[in-house]
Parts: sequence; structure tokens; C-alpha cells
Amino acid sequence: MIQKTLILLKPDAVQKNLIGQIIGRFETKGLKVIGLKMMNLDDKLINEHYGFLADKPFFPKIVSYMTAGPVVALAIEWEDSVATIRQLVGATNPIEATPGSIRADYAKNIDNNIIHASDSPETAEIELNRFFNVSTELFDYTRTLAN
Ligand code: ATP
Ligand code: MG
Repeated sequence: MIQKTLILLKPDAVQKNLIGQIIGRFETKGLKVIGLKMMNLDDKLINEHYGFLADKPFFPKIVSYMTAGPVVALAIEWEDSVATIRQLVGATNPIEATPGSIRADYAKNIDNNIIHASDSPETAEIELNRFFNVSTELFDYTRTLAN
């Protein structure tokens, strides 16, 4: 099924000049980018986005990590994109991430795991609305040149 999903390149990905390399992984795979922007996240947005972790001892670390600098938000539309991208991203803890996945290759530890990807189509819809104005910042187009 064609799905839209949200990816965030977290502040450490931006700091480490990995924006192009990580987006390149998705483009090389053939996935279709339908939205892209750099933005600063405020506490309110992080509280919404990671609110389900608010009672965890590591929550304050998440807030300071995610607000340390700009992130890059990416919207992708493709067949089964949610599961496909979660696979390319790898496990939450980079130590457990499949070799060759983005977190295995680039991320230092669970506190600095470099990238976020929506975990279900339902979450993706909520998250795309959270980070994009979906009527003006997401693009419906056909790719007319083959990869
Ligand atoms: P994300 O939502 O960022 O894509 P995820 O879906 O793999 O990651 P979640 O369970 O949604 O994992 O956790 C959200 C984020 O909270 C993780 O990316 C990580 O930064 C942080 N986190 C989760 N579990 C832990 C933990 N046990 N210790 C420290 N940080 C954690
Ligand atoms: Mg998650």
C-alpha cells in the first residue's frame, strides 16, 4: 500500500554534515521525497512528539537533544514506506541496529541516534501534520525520469 511517512534528521545529523548522505540513502533506494525542510523544534513540539515518553527518566535528555539545533524534516511517499524506512533506519539503540542500517552506520548511542521515522501509517499521518503544513508543503508529482 502507498503510504506517506515522516523522517527527522535529528540535530546531531545536521551537526555532523550527514544531511546529504542520509537523504541519499532514501533516494538511492528509489523512495519519493514529497516534502523537505529545515526547522527548529521548540519544547512544545517535542512534548507533543515524544509525549508518550514524558514519564521516562531520560525524557529531559530527549528535549535538550532535540532542541540543540535545527532538524531536517522529510516526507516520503512510497509502497509500504513506513516499514521500509524503519528497516533502513535500524533499531532505536544503534548497538542493536542491523549492520548497514543508518543508525548502525552513523549513530553513536541511544541518546544520539541521529534519525526519527514514523512507526505506523496512523502515526505518520499525525506526525506529517505536526511538522508540515500538508496542504502547502507536501508535493504531489509524478517522476517522469527513471532512476
Ligand atoms: P524515534 O521515535 O526517534 O524514531 P524509535 O521509534 O526507534 O525512535 P521510540 O521508542 O519511539 O524509538 O523512542 C523515541 C526516542 O526516545 C528514541 O529515538 C531515543 O532517542 C529515545 N529513547 C527511547 N528509549 C530510550 C532509552 N531506553 N534510553 C534513552 N533514550 C531512549
Ligand atoms: Mg518512535
